[in-house]
Parts: sequence; structure tokens; C-alpha cells
Amino acid sequence: MLGLSTELSWIQGLHSIRTPFLDNFFIFCNFFDTVYFILILIPLVGIFVNRKLGFRIALMCALSALVNKLLKYTFDMPRPHDLDAALGILTASTPGFPSGAAQTSVLLCGILIKEWRNRWKWVFGPLYVLIICFSRIYLGLHFPRDILGGLFIGVLLFFFYLKLDKSRTEVIAMATAALTFSFQPVQGYFYYDAHIEASVPARQLAPKSFVIEAQQKRYELWDTNDHKSAYRVMQAAADYFQNDPFLVYGLNDHTEDSLFRWEFVPYRKTSNVFSRHWQQACVAYRVMFGGTIISAKQRAEQEAIYEKVLDAVRPEDRVYSENEKGNDAFCDSKVINSQLVLEGKQINVLYNYAPIGQGEHKAHFLFIPKAHRKDFRELTEEEYTEASQLSQFVIDRLKETRNIQRAYLFHKTQIDAGQTVPHWHLHLVATENPRNDLLSKISWLYRMTFGASPLPKNKLAEEIRYYRGVLTQ
Ligand SMILES: [Zn+2]
Repeated sequence: MLGLSTELSWIQGLHSIRTPFLDNFFIFCNFFDTVYFILILIPLVGIFVNRKLGFRIALMCALSALVNKLLKYTFDMPRPHDLDAALGILTASTPGFPSGAAQTSVLLCGILIKEWRNRWKWVFGPLYVLIICFSRIYLGLHFPRDILGGLFIGVLLFFFYLKLDKSRTEVIAMATAALTFSFQPVQGYFYYDAHIEASVPARQLAPKSFVIEAQQKRYELWDTNDHKSAYRVMQAAADYFQNDPFLVYGLNDHTEDSLFRWEFVPYRKTSNVFSRHWQQACVAYRVMFGGTIISAKQRAEQEAIYEKVLDAVRPEDRVYSENEKGNDAFCDSKVINSQLVLEGKQINVLYNYAPIGQGEHKAHFLFIPKAHRKDFRELTEEEYTEASQLSQFVIDRLKETRNIQRAYLFHKTQIDAGQTVPHWHLHLVATENPRNDLLSKISWLYRMTFGASPLPKNKLAEEIRYYRGVLTQ
């Protein structure tokens, strides 16, 4: 992956000149990389120019597509939008190198220049290649190196076109067509239903972690069915990992139009406090600075495993007593009464006594089932759904009263994943400032790993009074 981050920063720089007009123009250019364009081009050439030329173009396009697919899966490189989702004006699930659009455009340009007897071909041909290649970078689909690779292969294919003679044509055509149709691309997800999609991301917070998205929706727009589907997938994964610890993490960013997704992060069981904190610090580091990049091949392998898991595991309806009590802090009525800021049917919303937020009135809330649920595995679907909906309500109320820019949501199962109270709770930390500088990131890193110090008693009581007002008025 050496040097990819440099090229990534070029594209990020390029995006500072983004305008709606350019977006639409380059999205339109994507048409020239679709099978529809080829299906229109071939008969047009065949009917109005020359039947044999139409046939040759069809053959070369099929051959180019096949060569491109084989190379893509051989090199197995990520696309810009795999590494920075904000760059993906359009997205694709296949690997990035080399660019098929660059390859086909230079091939078609060569054929045009060879066959067209008109001086304008020296303008239209190169201009077409230039616009197509630039559009692939602008759209976040390709790195400059993918384009260069595609151009190189396209030129080689053009030389092959020059050598093509009639006798070999039919054999090559049939072999190419057969190979093209026998080649299946990988799927982009391993589970989907009418509400959500689950896939292995290109950058992971931990080995084997996966993400759940609800049709590109932001968190505030998730509905009951989205939450229920997500709950079932998380429970199936929890069953698959048996008694192993895990974290479920999501960030709702209000400063940009990013979609919300949960990331299910499996942890290893550890026997000592050092490796436990090390593991948590690694994940917190990746949350702040970006996850580990994995190849498309690794993604496909992990997705194949999860696909089986979700086919095989159908979580049964869990039945747990409504009135069960434990002797943890969240079953302690004194704690509940003093920190409660909002009460639901089966869920209490408490203000965290040691908030890890930022600024005045640090916003750190816990959504806790009233019945004693040791961890996520014991949580019922209704409890999960209500906790999620209450967290959406709290985000909405905070946004009305304050300039909330980011909302971090997470829940942890077992001590190795950082669960400190053995009674399930969903964390919501909302911040007013995106704070992307290194110092804030490091202080976040520390607090997410080790927690923050408790507020003094009177300050805590003051914050709770404040938030009871904000949330219940
Ligand atoms: Zn409890």
C-alpha cells in the first residue's frame, strides 16, 4: 500500500474544488463506462459505418473487460472510497487496479483514430480519454496509479487490435465471450434484508470486524425495523463468537453528509490487564486515525464466513425475567434515582457520572434496561429497539438546544471489550466540536480507553438538573 496515502491526499485536495455542477457532469461521464454505452455504440457502428468494424469493437470490448477483471482480482487493490468514504461520489465493489474505464477509453480512442478519416479525430479521441480518466479520479473510484495502469493495458490491447486478422477473429471472439460470462464478481455484502446490509469494510477496527448500514441512512432516520434487523445480525454474530467479548461502535457525523453504520468489533479474550488495555487502545487508535486496510480478497474470505454464520444461526427469541435484579450499580435504585435524566418503558436514561464528552455540559448518556441484563446476549429485541430510539430522541433534543456536531454511540460486552458494569448499557457521547487536531485525538484516545475522572458531587447534580430540563421540557 506504499504511497497510496499520498494519492489519497491528492484526491482529498481535488475535492476542495467540488461543485454540484462538476459532480453531475462527472457522474454523467460514468455512462461511458457502462455496458449500455457499448450496447449502443456497437450497433451504431455496425449499421452506419461498417458491419465488420462493429464486430471487431464488440470483440475488443469483451476482451478488454475480461483482461481488466482478471487483473483487478490479481492485484486486489482498494479504491479511494474504500479508504475514505467521503470521497465516494460513486462507488464500486470490485478492486481498483487497473481502471477499466481508462483501459477501454484509450482502446476506443486508438480504434477511432485508426478508422475515422476526419481531422477532428485528433481532438475528440484524446479529449474523450482525458475526461474519462479525470472523472474516475474525481468520482473517488480510482487512484492516479489505477488510471496509468489502465492506459498501459489499453495501449497493449490496441496493438493487439492492429494485429487482428479475419481468420483468428471468430475463435478469439467465442473464447472471450465464454470467459467473460463465466467470471463472477464478488458480492459487496454478506447479509441484507429489506432494512439493512452487513458487509466487511475495507478498513477494519479489528480483525474480523464488520459493519451494518441501513440503506445509507443517517442514525436519526433509522426506524424500528432497521433497529430490529441490526439487533438480529448482532445477536447472530454474538452467538458465533460464543463467549468472546465485543464492541459495537458507530459515529453519527453532523458536519458532513456521511451515512451512519454500526461496526461490530470482536475482541480476543485476555487474561491480564495489560493486554486488555493494549487491545482497547489499538481499537481506540483506529477509531481516531482510521482502521487497518485489508485487501478485497481478505474481505471476500471474511464475508464468505459470515454468510455461513448468518445462514446457520437464527437467534431464538430470548426470554428473560422482567424483574430480575443484580447487585451492580445499574440495579441500584439509589444510583438510578440520582442519575436518571429520562425514563422510558423498559429503558432508563442516566447521565454518566464520569462523562467523556467535551466542553460545557459534557453530553454522555447511558441507555440501560430496567431489568438486569448482564450483557448484549441477554438483551431482548424490544429493549434494544427502545434504547436505540431513546438515543435518537436524545440526539434530536440536543441538536435543538445546542450545536451538536458528532454523536458517538457504542456498547461493550464483557470486560475485555471495556464493559465495566456487568449490566448492559448503550453509551451516547455527543460533542459540539469535531476537533480533528492531534492533541484532541490523543486525549479522546486516552479517555475512550481508560475512561474519564468522575465529576465532583455538586457539579454532577448540576449537570443532571440541566439535562433533565433539556430532555423533559
Ligand atoms: Zn443489573
